Order: sequence, then structure tokens, then C-alpha cells
Amino acid sequence: MIDKLDLNTKAQELRLLLGEDANSPIDIFSLVSQIEGLTLVYYPLGENISGMCVRDDKVKLIAVNSTMSYGRQRFSLAHELYHLYFDDSTGFNVCAKKLDSKSEVEKRADQFASYFIAPYGALKAMVKKICGTAFPSLQDVIALEQYFGLSHQAMLWRLLSEGYLMKPDMDQYSLGVVSTARSLGYDDKLYRPVLVESQKRTYGYYLKQVEKLRQKDMVSSGKIDELLLDAFREDIVFGGEEETGGNAVID
Ligand SMILES: [Zn+2]
Repeated sequence: MIDKLDLNTKAQELRLLLGEDANSPIDIFSLVSQIEGLTLVYYPLGENISGMCVRDDKVKLIAVNSTMSYGRQRFSLAHELYHLYFDDSTGFNVCAKKLDSKSEVEKRADQFASYFIAPYGALKAMVKKICGTAFPSLQDVIALEQYFGLSHQAMLWRLLSEGYLMKPDMDQYSLGVVSTARSLGYDDKLYRPVLVESQKRTYGYYLKQVEKLRQKDMVSSGKIDELLLDAFREDIVFGGEEETGGNAVID
């Protein structure tokens, strides 16, 4: 049995721990980049896997399937945060992409992710503001997911679980989402994957450790390049600011 109240509380606690308030829309990638000792890897993990989490005394690593939509990647990252902070069952999780029919721990991680991105009270208030007492339309669902940055399917499941939608609406509301969002004036970024050339990237702790090695002159520059290339950071090895010469003022 999933204790939703407990998971919403955990989601709010983690938001506060990471320096966020309990209810606002979040930039989850920015929040996660502050987690001490965490390496974040974006990688095309295939059709069926959304993400992975590896953790023990020495390693904290989260991988997100970078071929998924931006909104789904945000959800997957929040899901992996549950494993990182609250799941003490194993030190290694490979998580399926499907949002239904999973083990208890996966269901908990999904519910946590939903609350982390769209806290219970905040969503309730926004549903009231956007829909009043009416049944949410597809346009309303899009307005809600755009506000919180929650993926479309995750928003549908959430609205279903809280009784705002019925199961038959799910199929109907899964069609024409991108074109409807565009016509309502929203950016369609939430529904699109990142560019193929950015789908393999490593951020966080690993990079800091390589930089420490470089600064201490502990290994050859060739080895440093090798370590960076292993982490898909060709941009650091070969320079990523050629187009500006590296001297342009960044605004
Ligand atoms: Zn999982």
C-alpha cells in the first residue's frame, strides 16, 4: 500500500533540503547539480529504461535516459532522487519507462516524483485556479503540466489518481498534445527530447574529481582527456567555445 501523504511529505522535505520552497515549480536539474558527491549521466538507455541509480558509501550516480522528452527526463530524475534518498532496499536500481504495473518501490518512486515536481497542495490550488469546479479539459491539463514542468503522461496519471480525470479520458487526452500546447502559446520543449548531439553527457562529481586530478598534476594530460572522453565530454577536451573564441562576454 502506497502512503501518499508520507511521500508528499518526503518530497517537500527533500525540496527544502535542496534549498527550494515546498510548493513552487522547480528547475530540477539545477537543484540536483547542488547535491554533494552526485554524478549525473545522460545517456540513451534504450526503449524500456527511464533511468538508473547507483549508490553506496563511495558512489552516488544517477543516469537518465536522454532520448525521452524533456518533461519525462525531469520526472525520471525526480524518481531516481527517491531511490537516492529514501530507498534503502538495494544500492542499484534500473527503472522501467512504463508508468504503470510496477513493483511497490517503483510505484513509490513514481508517486514521490509526481509530488516532488507538483506538490499535492500546489497542484490542488492550481486545478482550482485553472478549472474552477469544472472537469479539466485537455487545455487545462496542458496548462497544469506547463506550470509545474511535469510530463504529460505523469500529469494524466496524477489527475486520474486524485479523481480529477477518469480512465477513459486518458486515451483521448493523449492525442494532439504538442499541437494544442503550441496553439495555446506554450513552448513545446516539455514534449521533445534534447538534440541527439547532447544525449550523452556527464555532469557533477565525476567532472570535479577529474579537474582535481588535473590541478594536482597527478596524471598526464592524455589520461585527463581519456577520463573526460569516457564521460562523453568531448566539448571540454576539444573546446566548446570555438564559435565565440572563448573571449565573448556571456550574457
Ligand atoms: Zn525506480
